[in-house]
Amino acid sequence: MALDTEYCSFWGKLKNEAVWNDWKWQLRSRFTKLGDFLEYMGVNADHCETQSNKIPFAVTPFYASLIKQSAHAEKLLKTVVPDSRELELSPYEKHDPLEEDENSPCPAIVHRYPDRVLFLVTNNCATYCRYCTRSRLTRLTPFNTSKSQLQAGVDYISQNKQIREVIISGGDPLFLDNTKLEWIISSIRQIDHVQLVRIGTKVPLVLPQRIDDELLTILEKYPPIYVNLHVIHPDELVTDTQAAISRLVNAGCVLASQTVLLKGVNDNNDTLQCLMEKLLRNRIRPYALFHCDLVAGASHFRTDIKVGLDLVDQLRKSSSGLAVPAYIVDSRGGKVALHSTNLMKETEDAYLLRNWSGNLVKHPK
Ligand code: SF4
Repeated sequence: MALDTEYCSFWGKLKNEAVWNDWKWQLRSRFTKLGDFLEYMGVNADHCETQSNKIPFAVTPFYASLIKQSAHAEKLLKTVVPDSRELELSPYEKHDPLEEDENSPCPAIVHRYPDRVLFLVTNNCATYCRYCTRSRLTRLTPFNTSKSQLQAGVDYISQNKQIREVIISGGDPLFLDNTKLEWIISSIRQIDHVQLVRIGTKVPLVLPQRIDDELLTILEKYPPIYVNLHVIHPDELVTDTQAAISRLVNAGCVLASQTVLLKGVNDNNDTLQCLMEKLLRNRIRPYALFHCDLVAGASHFRTDIKVGLDLVDQLRKSSSGLAVPAYIVDSRGGKVALHSTNLMKETEDAYLLRNWSGNLVKHPK
């Protein structure tokens, strides 16, 4: 991956591509001081908030470079730079809007649906998103889930035979080193009743160097591994991130996307259409467009639900059906996939349906 020469001149050192492509160096060298980051970006810091609501600030050099080169840098910046509005808490917002803690039978497990669990293996991320649903975890002192807690999680999954899917999440599971990651995946794979293993991650976009041969060798050993990629904007799909995605697909991973609908970032048809079509071209199935959760301090990112429904309708009109993700609101009772109502009326012998173009068609009973 190409070394960012602007990054080198900013720090006055690092002229070595091998170092730039070392994912552990990328993690060690993250921007963690907002002032440095904004100076590198050439952005005026006046409107930025240094006293944020304690969501950590960290951006990998790679993702900083990607943002700097984006034609929509100001949109991507909103998602990583602390903002004073994070301190405004709406009465309906919560630190744990999905009530995951209440549905946690043991420390690393969230069991909200009968047949699947979340396995939270770290609270670390390579780069932190300001709208994170799990900010109650990411704001804590950084930790990787301990071996004894991981073992307790594996034991819980093993003892509950109705669990058919395990979603390895966090934080970002690809933050973990390979030894720990392989232990987790192989332990889950040894449980007969678990059919699906899914990893939720943003790492291929913010730290593509992590998708190296050693990791791919592990993922190849335990097929099929489903990877849900957290992607919010088409500008995140650049040469290096697309190459990382391609390596995952070639290693047998099945990729799908999850996108949070974010006001002022991706809440318009052009951006979403471009994103979904670009995902398809990169062998990623657009899976979910999430309404921004009612997490504390994220109201400035939240659109109206009707905006989301309208955007999905527009996608349906302008793109292949493959490019239309489910629009999902995650509420206290679980995920709800929303559709604008297409069954308009029922008569004695027919239904009146609204088709993709908005016209009404009569469909016999
Ligand atoms: S990568 Fe995921 S877990 Fe990490 S801060 Fe972003 S949304 Fe939260």
